Amino acid sequence: MSLTNVVIRLDSRPTGMPGREHFKICEEPLPDLQAGEIRVALRYISISPSLRLQMNAGDSYLSPVPIGGLLRARGVGEVVESRTEEFSQGDFVEGGFGPQTHYSGPADGVMKIDPSIAPIERYLGALGMSGLTAYFGLVETCRPQAGQTLLVSSAAGSVGSLAGQIGKELGCRVIGIAGSEEKCAHVTGRLNFDACIDYRGEDVATRLSELAPEGIDIFFDNVGGEMLDAALLNLALGATISICGAISSYNDISAIRGPRNWLKLLEKRASLKGFSVFDFQSEYPAALARLAGWIDQGAIKPVEHIEVGLERFGDVLPMLFDGSHHGKLILKV
Ligand code: NAP
Repeated sequence: MSLTNVVIRLDSRPTGMPGREHFKICEEPLPDLQAGEIRVALRYISISPSLRLQMNAGDSYLSPVPIGGLLRARGVGEVVESRTEEFSQGDFVEGGFGPQTHYSGPADGVMKIDPSIAPIERYLGALGMSGLTAYFGLVETCRPQAGQTLLVSSAAGSVGSLAGQIGKELGCRVIGIAGSEEKCAHVTGRLNFDACIDYRGEDVATRLSELAPEGIDIFFDNVGGEMLDAALLNLALGATISICGAISSYNDISAIRGPRNWLKLLEKRASLKGFSVFDFQSEYPAALARLAGWIDQGAIKPVEHIEVGLERFGDVLPMLFDGSHHGKLILKV
């Protein structure tokens, strides 16, 4: 094969916001495949907050990517060559392929996807890691009951929008938090949440006390920091907080301070639980079937924001932090 691979390599570690200056665009020859390996022509790359954590030198729960290495971005694409029994040319697949035009390597952890069920980019969002994260972080970690009040931060984002819609489907009253009036209108309008707080225009703790005077039973937190502190002030007795992520601190992980209002956990006999979607791998097929069913019934509306051009990887990554996307942020190669 005479094609070359275009690869986005980490060139330096950011302090604060990531950008194109932290990456190098390289053209490299495609290697020959070894036994057990596949070559995938990438179509779409997932732009997710974990990529920012991988750019740090340490101090995070994700191992750092070395300078010159590839961030472990997930992607979907088509198998163009295979030296495995399991995969054939023409199969569509999802995996941690990295930001590049062609993945050439082991097939471990690569999943087949079905383009006849949904557009392939959806397997990066509602039918992929975002859907699974929302599902396991809410359903398995918090065991929501009908009639409970569920609060979701980053409610217009990928995981948050799905967690809130799953909560609605399970009979919860769902309140979102998002970064603009327009995003809140999207969350209550298109996504059917019961209410949404614009954290840039409103005082979150005060609005929560008005919207949920009896307190919040479940908080699905994607943001941490001030948002977590505001929620702690408004818990119901026996509340559960699911720590999905803390994006407000990813650009400076060394500056994290514990929540000011942590003693509310004692007062409200509440629990704070962290989870990782990767702990539930054996249950992915059942969860994906349930998510697909909810999408078919219209109970979950998947939202994707697609930017175009692999070489724009370093320009698109910061969009996660300035809030200029709705739903799942995806880069078309
Ligand atoms: P996303 O919500 O689609 O995008 C990030 C959003 O975060 C932005 O749109 C922005 O929305 C909000 N944001 C950014 N900086 C903020 C700040 N300083 N304060 C408040 N909001 C801020 O991203 P995602 O892919 O769905 O990921 C959501 C969370 O899930 C992340 O914390 C991620 O690390 C976590 N995650 C966890 C697991 C797990 O296994 N535990 C797996 C996958 C992802 P606004 O416009 O509303 O500010």
